Amino acid sequence: MSDTQFMDDLIVIGEAVPDELKDKRKVLCSACYSDEHGLVRIYPIPPNAHMRRWDRVSIPLERNPQDTRGESWKVQGSKREWDVLSEKIHRHGKLPQPGRISLLHKLYRDFGVDCIQNLNDNMLSLGIIKPDVLNAWMEERGERYDPTVQITLDSPTRFFTIHNYKLQPRVKYRCSDCRSQNPHNQQILEWGAYEWMRKHPDNPEQAIPNLRLTDPQYDKYFLVGNMSKYRNAFVVISVFRFKHGTI
Ligand SMILES: [Zn+2]
Repeated sequence: MSDTQFMDDLIVIGEAVPDELKDKRKVLCSACYSDEHGLVRIYPIPPNAHMRRWDRVSIPLERNPQDTRGESWKVQGSKREWDVLSEKIHRHGKLPQPGRISLLHKLYRDFGVDCIQNLNDNMLSLGIIKPDVLNAWMEERGERYDPTVQITLDSPTRFFTIHNYKLQPRVKYRCSDCRSQNPHNQQILEWGAYEWMRKHPDNPEQAIPNLRLTDPQYDKYFLVGNMSKYRNAFVVISVFRFKHGTI
């Protein structure tokens, strides 16, 4: 595949809580689906180009020499044109609700795996899991927690990155045909859960029940992905939940 691609059929299926780079840039990471290219990771994205789940977008992309994962791309001219990068990302509305359910069917058919370990074995960095959730809880972040939140030029409101949250949501689960000796125990990075915590500092724990992880009335699917530096460490990027009977 060429080192540059203009992808015009992307649908956003996951957005992770923002992070901060060593050079202090605040960055987003999105996961998308493309009919032509399959699962696609786009990183880094500037905060003012915030793409929400189910948005249809087109973006000129190029390979990132520092990230050799097959699904990983960055916006063309990423660092050089950082301040105007959002102008390259074009939205074409949102996928409507019935389309979301059929897309999820398709994602599970084409990218679903019986166990996270299959992703590892096949050198895949993104995949869909149908989890059997055992437990979900909040845990203190500990290292690199920074309670100060700075106001930046590109984000005049208080913009939180993952390091500004004291708590992290976690989940313990088995995959549909799990090969792991112990249940998987992973961080949930879905931005929506963190947005709840930011907006409701008096009740951050509610972010867990909101995800419907242990609600028997909901069908759940996870979009999982690995970390660039630790390829066998996976996190939950997106929690798809639909009331039972709608899938
Ligand atoms: Zn498993």
